[in-house]
Amino acid sequence: MIDAQTELYGIIGNPVRYSLSPIIHNGAFRRMGLNAVYLAFEVNNLEEAMSGIRELGLRGVSVTLPFKTQILTYLDNIGDTAWKIRAVNTIVNEEGRMIGHNTDWHGAIEALEEKVDLKNKRVILLGAGGAARAIGFGLKERMCQMTIFNRSQNRAEALAKELGCDHHPLLSFEEMDGDIIVNATTVGMYPLDAESPIPKEILKEKMVVMDMVYQPLGTKLLREAEERGCVTIDGLEMLACQGAAQLEIWTGKKPEIGQIKEDLRQAMKREESHD
Ligand code: NAP
Repeated sequence: MIDAQTELYGIIGNPVRYSLSPIIHNGAFRRMGLNAVYLAFEVNNLEEAMSGIRELGLRGVSVTLPFKTQILTYLDNIGDTAWKIRAVNTIVNEEGRMIGHNTDWHGAIEALEEKVDLKNKRVILLGAGGAARAIGFGLKERMCQMTIFNRSQNRAEALAKELGCDHHPLLSFEEMDGDIIVNATTVGMYPLDAESPIPKEILKEKMVVMDMVYQPLGTKLLREAEERGCVTIDGLEMLACQGAAQLEIWTGKKPEIGQIKEDLRQAMKREESHD
């Protein structure tokens, strides 16, 4: 029951009305027996939003596009990895001090490690935006041998320099050789949902193919990877893992990850049936 003791959490972003984060956190709070509620806030002015968060005493906040980098200036402290990635997706309010963390990298690596041992693996990383930065730093930490493929050369070059790896244009298919493919571009996501970032011929049996896109879940890339006998990981796995890591930071307790995934799959089914 919501009462005067209820602790408030939320997500800030724009747009945010279709965010799946309230599904993750409200379900988990209920199961963990916590008197807490999580809401979505569509923000136009980040500075004013941060004043409101401080004044109203929200206990924790998720940060999504377009604020993951801008938010750095409004925080009192930033965790080491978030600082390296230069992106924050989680804020914890420690008695009025706003501390920033990044759980996207953790979610992406955990989702991969559920299916594959990353040690010494060669990874084809498609994309050089925020999601690619997050998983890229995680893969570097796991000592993977990575190559970045991105549409814009300047962005690919900048990230490759930070990660100490090679880079090529996205269409350099002849250079794509590896054990794992990660799609961190928006190709495959609505309205590009009829497309795959790579031709089917690149996909080899037993390769691990992870698509970070989760709207829709069954992307063309993953459908073709299944047809070719690859091991596939969809965007919901990472979404659930990064959300579980946020819950652990906020509450100090590990939530039941299987239940979070089930909540998300049910919510996506409901959404699809309304389309
Ligand atoms: P972002 O920072 O805007 O980066 C977008 C990336 O996609 C860039 O590499 C961009 O290349 C590339 N791209 C965009 N349109 C393209 C096109 N038409 N052809 C080829 N490349 C194109 O976005 P982001 O935050 O990294 O998100 C990327 C994807 O990851 C999204 O689908 C997002 O929903 C997903 N994601 C999922 C999770 C999860 O938990 N599952 C978490 C974070 C993100 P340029 O550099 O050339 O523009």
